[in-house]
Amino acid sequence: MSNRHARRQDVGLLLVVSSPSGAGKTTLARRLRDDFSGLGFSVSYTTRPPRTGEQDGVDYHFVTQETFDRMVGEGRFAEWAHVHGHSYGTAYEAIDQALKSGTDMLFDIDYQGGRQIKSRFPDAVMVFVLPPSVDELARRLRGRATDSKASIEKRLHGAVEELNHYDAYEYLVVNENLDRAYDELRAVYVASRCNWRLRAHFAEQLVTEARRQEP
Ligand code: ADP
Ligand code: 5GP
Repeated sequence: MSNRHARRQDVGLLLVVSSPSGAGKTTLARRLRDDFSGLGFSVSYTTRPPRTGEQDGVDYHFVTQETFDRMVGEGRFAEWAHVHGHSYGTAYEAIDQALKSGTDMLFDIDYQGGRQIKSRFPDAVMVFVLPPSVDELARRLRGRATDSKASIEKRLHGAVEELNHYDAYEYLVVNENLDRAYDELRAVYVASRCNWRLRAHFAEQLVTEARRQEP
């Protein structure tokens, strides 16, 4: 968060957002990043080809399967998974940066990745975005028109598997009305920033300061 108090903390918050493909997590996550300039985005590595308009190094690091496999072998990923026929992974660099510099970091990753991040970083905040219905999910996936027919069918099939894992998450945001869903995601982020683990450092400073000023 880019406010005065946030700068006093020394630990970055890891915010994991997952959902079945098409539920709206990219739309919601983008809005959150626009709202909070201090919230970093973890740019994943993927073997998926870029969609029209996607930029290398901004949306994803687009790599070959060979490069991806080498990175796996070198232990460069904090998590990685096969999703819809491609490999996706989060490099440790992004997380180290968040934890060391106190920058909050948003991860748009699937449930397999979410599970790995949570087991390595138990303080990660886990948000799962649900579509209002399976029919609406299908409508959104088809309406997005960024994927081939085969890819859309693969994603719809994968949605059932992804939905099954909602119970590994701490917060469930239902994305029926976009504004309302965004309010919920924003509220989770803002409240998580007030978690005592992140604020305890500041409170300790105040206690020390107050003791020093005691007559
Ligand atoms: P995901 O990242 O979960 O795959 P996207 O954010 O790309 O999903 O959203 C899928 C499609 O649904 C996009 O075309 C997006 O504009 C649309 N969409 C997202 N949220 C809503 C909503 N609340 N109502 C209607 N359409 C939505
Ligand atoms: P898309 O191809 O639509 O950009 O993403 C497909 C799925 O892969 C989405 O559910 C997205 O959250 C997930 N994904 C993107 N990056 C990563 C990553 O680094 N790791 C994992 N495990 N999943 C990812």
